[in-house]
Amino acid sequence: MTHDPNCIFCKIVAGQIPSKKAYEDEELLAFHDIHPWAPVHVLIVPKLHIATMADVADEHAPMLGRMMVLGTKLMRELGVTNGFRNIINTGRDGGQEVYHLHMHVIGGPRPWLKG
Ligand code: AMP
Ligand code: ZN
Repeated sequence: MTHDPNCIFCKIVAGQIPSKKAYEDEELLAFHDIHPWAPVHVLIVPKLHIATMADVADEHAPMLGRMMVLGTKLMRELGVTNGFRNIINTGRDGGQEVYHLHMHVIGGPRPWLKG
């Protein structure tokens, strides 16, 4: 499945639900989390609907690498100079709430709400 009509992040990718975008290209979208845990909290998602980290395969390796590098660039751009966390929650035991693969990148001065 490349797009799931019931998926909230697919709707954000399609522009059907608004988001505060931080970056976009043909493969990836980054937007600010609606309930930030820290002064800076972005989500990086593939435009392709992949439900979880448990569903990735070798073919996704370049895209996953690009997500990691984009997180670093965005933290720099957004003025995060003192470190940040990259978090991917996977499945029920991993605490995943939205079943469209996403990486949280959170930073900024502590204290944080979570994380
Ligand atoms: P997870 O628990 O890793 O699945 O995290 C899902 C994240 O998506 C949470 O931090 C939510 O605050 C965030 N979220 C849910 N809906 C939206 C939305 N419409 N726009 C931005 N972030 C959202
Ligand atoms: Zn989706």
